[in-house]
Amino acid sequence: MTVDFPGRETRDDTARERAFTRISILGATGSIGASTLDLIGREPDRFDLVAVTAHRNVEALIEIARRHRPSFAVIGDETLGGVLAEGLAGSGITCGAGPSAMMEAAAMPADLVMAAITGAAGLEPTVAAVRAGAAIALANKECLVCAGSAFMAEAERAGVTVLPVDSEHNAIFQVFEEGNARAVEKIVLTASGGPFRTWTREAMAAALPEQALKHPNWTMGRKITIDSATLMNKGLEVIEAFHLFPLEAEQIEVLVHPQSVVHGMVQYADGSLLAQMGSPDMRTPIAHCLSWPKRSGAPSARLDLAAVATLTFEAPDYGRFPALALARDALLRGAGTATVLNGANEIAVYGFLDRAIGFLDIAAVVEKTIEEADRCGLLAEPGSVAEALLLDRESRDLARRIMRARAA
Ligand code: NDP
Repeated sequence: MTVDFPGRETRDDTARERAFTRISILGATGSIGASTLDLIGREPDRFDLVAVTAHRNVEALIEIARRHRPSFAVIGDETLGGVLAEGLAGSGITCGAGPSAMMEAAAMPADLVMAAITGAAGLEPTVAAVRAGAAIALANKECLVCAGSAFMAEAERAGVTVLPVDSEHNAIFQVFEEGNARAVEKIVLTASGGPFRTWTREAMAAALPEQALKHPNWTMGRKITIDSATLMNKGLEVIEAFHLFPLEAEQIEVLVHPQSVVHGMVQYADGSLLAQMGSPDMRTPIAHCLSWPKRSGAPSARLDLAAVATLTFEAPDYGRFPALALARDALLRGAGTATVLNGANEIAVYGFLDRAIGFLDIAAVVEKTIEEADRCGLLAEPGSVAEALLLDRESRDLARRIMRARAA
C-alpha cells in the first residue's frame, strides 16, 4: 500500500519528465533569493525569470532586475513604486508596487515559484502562486506554521507540487522513500544549536541582538537567524515537517548537531538510518528543487569528511531553549495554537531586534500570547487561509500588548 505525500505528485509520470524553466522569486532581495538568483544566473539558457519581488529594498530589486531581466518586478511598499519605475526605465521590464501587484507577480504563469518572503507576509502571495498552478519551492516555513492544513489543502486542490527548500526538510525529502512511508519509524531534524548553544540562561538574559545575529554556520536573514538562536526555528521546522510528510507529531525528532553537516535523517523499520549531508550552503537544497526530480550541478563547497573528522549529536535542552518546547506543544495541542505561536514569535523577534525586549522575553511573550489567546477563546482551528490570517492578526495585536507591558 502506498501513502500519498500531501502536496506532491506521486503517480503522475509526466510530472517526472517536466523541467522547471519559468521561475518566479518572491523575496528576491533576501538570502534565499540571492542563492536562487546565483544558481539561475549561472544557467541563463536553462531558466527564464518571470517575476521578482521585494518589500522595501528597492535599490537591490532594481539591480537584480537589471542583471537578471525578469518580465515583472514588484516592490511591496507602494510608496516606492516611482523609484522602481525610474530605476527600470528603458529596460522593458514591467514594474508594479503594492499588495495587488505582489499577488499579480505570484500568479504569473510560471513552472516554479520560489516562496522566500519572510514570515506570514508570504502566505497570501504563495497561495496566489498555488492557485495559479505553479509548483512551489517552499522556503517560507511560516506559511505552514501559520496555516499548515489550509495551505496544504489549497495545494492539493490545485494539484501542485510543494518542494521543501528548508535544508532539513529537503534532506528528509531526499531520503524519504515514498513507497516505504509506512516503514518510516521517525525522522530527525538536526539543529546547529545556534550561537547560544553552550550559554547559561543568565548569560542569554543579557544577550544583545548583534550576538544573537552571529550564527555559527549559516548566513541567513535576520528573522530566521534570531529564530535559530532561540531554537524557535527548529520548533517551526517540526511543525513544517508535520505538514510536509505523512507522519505523526511524535515521529519528528530534533537533535542538536553543531557541525551542520547532517541536515536530516529518516529511520526505517529495519533499523536503517538514512541521512543527507552537505556543506551548509542553501544552494544545494535550492538546486535540488530547481531540478527535481532530476539532479544538476550546484557550486556549493564539497564536504571533506576527513577534515571535518568528528560529527557530534546531543539532545536539545528544552529548559534553556523553551521556544522549542512551546512549538512542540503547539503542534500537539493543534487547532489554532501554531498560528498564534507564529504571529507572536514574529512580533517578539522584531521587538528583540529593536531592543524593546530581552532575548529570553521572546519565548515568554509567545507563551503568554498563547495563554491569552486561549483565555479569549481564539484557538479554534482556522478552516481556511483567510481565517488563519485573521487569527494571525489577532495574535499579533495580543503579542504587541503583552510585549509593551513587559517592556514597561
Ligand atoms: P531575508 O530577510 O534575507 O529576505 C526576506 C525577503 O522577503 C526579502 O526579499 C524581503 O524584501 C522580503 N520581504 C520581507 N518582508 C516582506 C513583506 N512584508 N512583504 C513582501 N516581501 C517581504 O530572509 P531569508 O531569505 O533568510 O528567509 C526567507 C524565508 O526562507 C524565511 O521564511 C526563512 O525562514 C526561510 N528559510 C531561510 C533560510 C536561509 O538560509 N536564509 C533557510 C531555510 C528557510 P526586502 O529585502 O525588500 O525587505
